[in-house]
Amino acid sequence: MSNLTKEEQFNNLFNKYGNRLITNDNSINQFRITARETISKYTNLDIYFDIIDEPRVNAVASKLNDSYFIAIFSGTIQVFDYLIRKICAHPNILTEFGNSSKECKTTKVYNAVIKNSIHIIEENPPVKPVTKERNRLSQLIFTQAVLNIIFHELGHIVNGHLNFLQLSKINYIEEVQIESTKLSSLESLDRQTLEIDADAFSAIETLRELFTIFNSQEYQDILPCHKSIFKLWSFTRQICWRVMENNYIDKKLLEITHPPTGIRFQYTKIACLDLIKKRGGQKLVDIFEISYESGVYEADEALQTLSEKEQVLPPVLSEKLSTYHFTHGAIIFCHWDTIRVSLLPLDNYCLREPNIYDSANEILEVYQKIISNAQISK
Ligand SMILES: [Zn+2]
Repeated sequence: MSNLTKEEQFNNLFNKYGNRLITNDNSINQFRITARETISKYTNLDIYFDIIDEPRVNAVASKLNDSYFIAIFSGTIQVFDYLIRKICAHPNILTEFGNSSKECKTTKVYNAVIKNSIHIIEENPPVKPVTKERNRLSQLIFTQAVLNIIFHELGHIVNGHLNFLQLSKINYIEEVQIESTKLSSLESLDRQTLEIDADAFSAIETLRELFTIFNSQEYQDILPCHKSIFKLWSFTRQICWRVMENNYIDKKLLEITHPPTGIRFQYTKIACLDLIKKRGGQKLVDIFEISYESGVYEADEALQTLSEKEQVLPPVLSEKLSTYHFTHGAIIFCHWDTIRVSLLPLDNYCLREPNIYDSANEILEVYQKIISNAQISK
């Protein structure tokens, strides 16, 4: 196996999905180079990144011997690119960013929650924002969306998840659950906890990237204040989750690999609190909480605005989680703390701040009470 090139290993590893994408498209090839550079800035681990030529929205992280592999499906890139151009070319979406009133593309699609690039209906000429600012906005959101996925996969690697799963003979993590997969409750809880942990990594690092952009003042016309950063950030994450979201209707919460979007939404917020507090104290945390919610709601509204079909999304679950979901979220959080002990010797993340989850203990106590109350009331 070691005689094979990385490209060959990649093709062997993921051949059930398809081969690595070979294309003359400069923007895709540049995308690949930039993604590799970004990953190498975070770790010295041997990680090979590439694109699988497959129209579905999906991503996979895997380990083979001592090498790691991250694969993003070409469908993911195409769907994000298309959706985000449509969002920024619409006059009534993200109206606080640039001069949206000059935009005029309001053509709807049947269901904007596109999960496969073969369902994209490209306009002629391809839909694109009219103004320079909205074009830059579109590029910024696209970069954030893709980084969100790449950092999530990187989180699975650097936080030791693949090493942890390898103990159970599992050597890859896929973002879209296969319908037929049946997990035991403990396997499901382990997997969902790892997803939340990868989300936390991705959340913190994408936010850090936006802070850097904010400091450089390069995007001052689009991102003039913290409020706009937080809103753009949560908007983008919510769009990603909605597109990547599995169909969990009729499934039990302890059979699935990925937590429902509403629960991911809650934890992403928690994961970033310390970073934000360090940057601007409680005042900035307050701005964050409000902007975060408004970005999430605007993302859901945007997907609805772009759709002909009524109600394209499952309930948000975010503002008023049902007791069932809230208890499930609490169980994940407590389990997170348990498996973190097993993960620490396996992780490789050189940039992790030791007190990154400062607020975790406080929240853990609250959740432990919720769980014990729920058990008593059974
Ligand atoms: Zn994942």
